[in-house]
Amino acid sequence: MAVRAEILKNIRSVDPYVPGEQPQEKVVKLNTNENPYPPSPGVQEALDSLDPADFRLYPDPSSSVLVKALAENYGVNEDQVFVGVGSDDVLSLCFLTFFNSEKPILFPDITYSFYKVWAELYRIPYECPELDKDFRIVGADYYRENGGIIFPNPNAPTAIYEELDFIEDILEHNRDSIVIVDEAYIDFAGRSAIELIGKYDNLIVTQTFSKARSMAGMRIGYAVSNPDLIRCLNDVKYSFNSYTMSRAALACGAAAVKDVEYLEETVRKIKETRERTKKELAQLGFEFTDSKANFLFARHPRYDAGKLFEELKEAHIYVRHWNDEKIRDYLRITIGTDEEMDVLFDYLRKRVC
Ligand code: PMP
Repeated sequence: MAVRAEILKNIRSVDPYVPGEQPQEKVVKLNTNENPYPPSPGVQEALDSLDPADFRLYPDPSSSVLVKALAENYGVNEDQVFVGVGSDDVLSLCFLTFFNSEKPILFPDITYSFYKVWAELYRIPYECPELDKDFRIVGADYYRENGGIIFPNPNAPTAIYEELDFIEDILEHNRDSIVIVDEAYIDFAGRSAIELIGKYDNLIVTQTFSKARSMAGMRIGYAVSNPDLIRCLNDVKYSFNSYTMSRAALACGAAAVKDVEYLEETVRKIKETRERTKKELAQLGFEFTDSKANFLFARHPRYDAGKLFEELKEAHIYVRHWNDEKIRDYLRITIGTDEEMDVLFDYLRKRVC
């Protein structure tokens, strides 16, 4: 029985975010910017130390072991850290908490497509300044009046990283707005804006365990800011769902944060493979931005990206493609292991030469 229009008219309807595919069969999976290496060995130990009998109890609502580990890692106080179920959860709560103005929030026209979905979901007005012809964010576009600003650094899917003076320039021009820097890919790039939080009371930096820390499946993200803004986030979280982080996520997350050496080693390997991938793809005639993330944003002047995407999929090599007018010539290719990238290069050598 179809639901009648009178009922439907009062239902919140949204165009949801479309996540990358998670195929169940074995493929070369270069489509959702996961890390090809396992998490720190300490994560296994943390799992082994869990007692299922404890699962009958709710987890610590303040997530203190994880908050403490992160605070120690970044040299900030515990009241400056907020954790959530992946940075998607943290960012969505940030939208709800901080973007309450009648003025439009600003984010780039080409960026993480979830921002638009949250803005729509929460009925937040928004405007999307265009990137320049080289896919760079134009700082001056963010000098106008606004209800808040958010952008990733490095940006996604362009993979371009902006230095901290660029971030500071935006902060200087927006002393009365909240500025959120989404650093999902920062470990592969450069300096984090976390070092600026003592200087700007309007800055929130979010990061994730899904990329450099190889824990996308555990769903852990966090925000670092000043205690006042973190308190506001917690107030909204406790008004929504107090027990967001499972006992497993808390234990595994805390263990992962403590293993700095492993993180650095994994990041080094991925950056090496990324630079090798740039060389290989350039030889095949691809053009791409100077990626500082764990993926490349690449096009081939002679081949249709949509077709190439479909053909690669048939060959069990998954990459990402958007049928969006501005970026439909591009493929987003996650950096996998060297062996995985070799499978891609072998296929492309046969296909584009
Ligand atoms: N921000 C950006 C720019 C991303 O690409 C992603 C990954 N899809 C996220 C946030 C969310 O990542 P997660 O929820 O896994 O932390």
